[in-house]
Amino acid sequence: MIVNNSLDEVKKRENALAIIKDWVLNKSRESLYDLTGLSGGFIASPSEIDLLETYVGPAIFEEELQKVGIEHMGGEKVLPLNRTSSGILATILALVSENTNVVHYLAELPAHPSIPRSCALVNANYSETDNFDEFTIPENTSLVVITGSTMDHKVIDLENFKKVIEMAHDKNIPVMVDDASGARLRTVVFNQPKACDLGADISITSTDKLMSGPRGGLMAGRSDLIDEIKVKVNQFGLEAQPPAILAMLNGIKNFNGDNLIKSFSRKDELLDLLNQNFNNFKTTPTGVMITPKDLASELKVSHNLSDNDVAFVFSFILLKEHGIITIPPVSMPGASATIRFDLSTSDAFNLNKKIVSSFNNLEKLVINEDECREIVFNF
Ligand SMILES: *Cc1c(COP(=O)(O)O)cnc(C)c1O
Repeated sequence: MIVNNSLDEVKKRENALAIIKDWVLNKSRESLYDLTGLSGGFIASPSEIDLLETYVGPAIFEEELQKVGIEHMGGEKVLPLNRTSSGILATILALVSENTNVVHYLAELPAHPSIPRSCALVNANYSETDNFDEFTIPENTSLVVITGSTMDHKVIDLENFKKVIEMAHDKNIPVMVDDASGARLRTVVFNQPKACDLGADISITSTDKLMSGPRGGLMAGRSDLIDEIKVKVNQFGLEAQPPAILAMLNGIKNFNGDNLIKSFSRKDELLDLLNQNFNNFKTTPTGVMITPKDLASELKVSHNLSDNDVAFVFSFILLKEHGIITIPPVSMPGASATIRFDLSTSDAFNLNKKIVSSFNNLEKLVINEDECREIVFNF
């Protein structure tokens, strides 16, 4: 095994960032392809940057974010956060008490790890399912969670979405929607309503997913609940800071769904090309992906790596040899090791050929565990 625990994941991320830095300094930013779908970005004018003081910044930008954020997310009030995970944690700290139940419905397991981890912190009983027929809300439930679009971009069925909200509200239980990418993917590509418009009490999106914004979270929903959650957010330092708030505001203002819609058609062309060499690539709404298990099953050589390790090694080959950034090398601990090529933010030139040549190198590398370790950790 190569990547065994959270510390290993932190180390592989450090190595990935060092490779990216090297690439930008010695080649160019333009020759790097960020296909994570987490484009990041910091849109701000010099005069706006001049206003970034501790209290002046929030006074100006938070006020405007209320208007722009509500247009994007719906709801009565918005709250900018350091990350989506921060918003999930704060909601659970505020609304979930010890020994109560939290139940989660999502289109496909697994849930984002911040949800079970936050429930564990408050000693709540957490359960999740992707089987709608098995989803029930037991007595003593304090929060119902719905994921709008999973980490692998699997989008929830709209009818199920509505039914889960109805089931929760029949029992007067609040609903939190993890709409990290869903707030844009569901609404723009699948024409679904905003989570708050469907009745969600709280919805949280990630401001660098499928939009040009900073890593951050934006929560929207019922103002009474947001106020309660905001107390926890401020107590534990989970709020977004003024520079992030400014970039969120401008990222949302600049959001344009056309690229998302274009990538929706481009993905099929890429899949056709990949299918000439592989059996297991699948489309996502805005690109293609391969799970660690499916990638491992493409290999014709025998080796001792775990499926996740195969995915990490492959993603590092893509990065080192072709400057293609996917999520696994740069992800936070516990994130999915699925390799997703998102076409919504950038055109990857000759992507099919680069994937095939990287895979050929993967076959040569997997038989030597030391070399695999070297490419993932650089030691
Ligand atoms: C990315 C993601 C998150 C977490 O976002 P962070 O900004 O990393 O905290 C949570 N849930 C889902 C479904 C995600 O895709």
